[in-house]
Amino acid sequence: MSDLVHGIAELSSLRDREALDFALVLLLRQHCPMAFDSVRLLRLVGEAGDQRWQTCANLVHDEAQPTRDRVWVDFNTLPRVEDYPDRQLCAFSGGMLRSKGTPAFTLFALGPAGKVDGLLEIQSEQSLDGATEGMVTGLLRIYRNVQGLLDYGEKDSLTELLNRKTFDGAFIKATFHDSESRQLALPERRMVHGGSYWLAVIDIDHFKRVNDSFGHLIGDEVLVLIARLMRASFRFNDQLYRFGGEEFVILMRCATTEDAAGVLERFRTRVQEHAFPQIGHITVSVGFASLTADDTPGAAFDRADKAVYYAKGHGRNQVCSYQALVAAGELIEAQEDSQEADFF
Ligand code: GH3
Ligand code: MG
Ligand code: MG
Repeated sequence: MSDLVHGIAELSSLRDREALDFALVLLLRQHCPMAFDSVRLLRLVGEAGDQRWQTCANLVHDEAQPTRDRVWVDFNTLPRVEDYPDRQLCAFSGGMLRSKGTPAFTLFALGPAGKVDGLLEIQSEQSLDGATEGMVTGLLRIYRNVQGLLDYGEKDSLTELLNRKTFDGAFIKATFHDSESRQLALPERRMVHGGSYWLAVIDIDHFKRVNDSFGHLIGDEVLVLIARLMRASFRFNDQLYRFGGEEFVILMRCATTEDAAGVLERFRTRVQEHAFPQIGHITVSVGFASLTADDTPGAAFDRADKAVYYAKGHGRNQVCSYQALVAAGELIEAQEDSQEADFF
């Protein structure tokens, strides 16, 4: 019993989502009255009509540690929601679902019916007994509470995008190589291969006019709608931030400059074509930069921001690439800061 209490204390002290997911499945295996063949934590990703299952933690009973899908996994390689009818049903109806047959699968929905965003799936030789089901349900409640606290600290309350506070840490984590490099025993260094990661800054054009003409409440509504258009335009594992005011940031992975420019251009067009209630049409200016090896969050942001500034000064409602502007002689490449900091 005291082991379980300590396990819960440890779980609730975690502030990293990946570590939290792993801690949950390890705790379940260690403390549930019945043995499992496997326990898998799944997240529903994608938009209505094309949703997929992403594995956040999968613990097979004789494996020491859980595994998970890579952060930048290709959406199209993930299994479709409808490929697993029991999971789909449980995600739709909420609560718990016991599938028939051997081995037994017990599914626990994460979130209330209508707002389910994931599942816990336990595979066992026999159906779970009541004590085990109760234990799982209780631990899931604690897990969701911790997730709620993380959301509160990391998300912007208006748009529910990530907030600026989390950017530096997420930047380092996302661009640092994940499990792939560890498996290949590569040294722990940044996986930025000639522009596979991109940082974009988006700034709404003439947003002050929206506030001045229609009031702040309508202005806020526009920010919420822009965030919605962002979610619909970018991939599920691209990281979307509201940096404050009407400025948004995206950290994404793309194969080429053309791909990055294409995705951003599609978003720009969507905004331009969207009819915003009461105000009609607005536009955005976008600047983006590819990340370089050993980049820093501040330096990457500055480059993308310079490209936005350029877009603002050259007609707005356009997507500008920092590297392309430097190559064309329109911007001067920023000098790297000296490695030796001059403190005094
Ligand atoms: P530009 O095309 O040059 O970007 O023009 P702009 O009017 O958008 O200029 P700027 O980016 O300097 O102005 C930002 C304005 O955004 C100022 C403020 O009125 C508004 N704003 C900032 N934060 C919020 C917010 O949380 N809600 C609302 N409604 N407005 C905000
Ligand atoms: Mg601005
Ligand atoms: Mg603006």
